[in-house]
Amino acid sequence: MWPWEHAALAYVLYSALTRRRGRSPGDVATLWVLVASQLPDLIDKPLAWTFGVVHSGRMLAHAPVVAVPLCVLVYWYFSRRSTPEYGVAFGVGYLSHVAGDAVGSALVGEYAYARFLLWPLVSVPVDDQESVLGEVVDGLSPSPWLLVSGLVGVAVVGLWIADGKPGLGTFRRERSGSWRRDG
Ligand SMILES: [Zn+2]
Repeated sequence: MWPWEHAALAYVLYSALTRRRGRSPGDVATLWVLVASQLPDLIDKPLAWTFGVVHSGRMLAHAPVVAVPLCVLVYWYFSRRSTPEYGVAFGVGYLSHVAGDAVGSALVGEYAYARFLLWPLVSVPVDDQESVLGEVVDGLSPSPWLLVSGLVGVAVVGLWIADGKPGLGTFRRERSGSWRRDG
């Protein structure tokens, strides 16, 4: 999945969760959703492709054996600071990324690329960086899938506007020097 698809999936799930509780996503919580939705790739891709610490861009930070304890730790941290909602937001963003990668690979029949779910019990395929680059070029070429992805993106932006554009308020408050905690 593309970064914006991870962000969109995470936001839709978090928005649905908060709406079920009769609320709208908060400003800071929304930023945590978006940051956490990118974090597995921001950790694993440089570790694999730049530093060579791991051999796949979906390995350490994507594996539930690391992801779940990390989310629990972050939730515990925010709970101690009386902002558990940020922990929930982080968990939704992070775990939706992991789930999105796994389901996305399974849907196109690339089951090997979902093996990170069981890492380190099973091995994960070694990344071929040239083929990854080729996939990036292919993925950004005009195609029905890119059109669908764009339409879904427009729908998610519509949901975000309907939710009151959460996240923007943080920057406005910081500019006016009146930042406050939110849900
Ligand atoms: Zn990923």
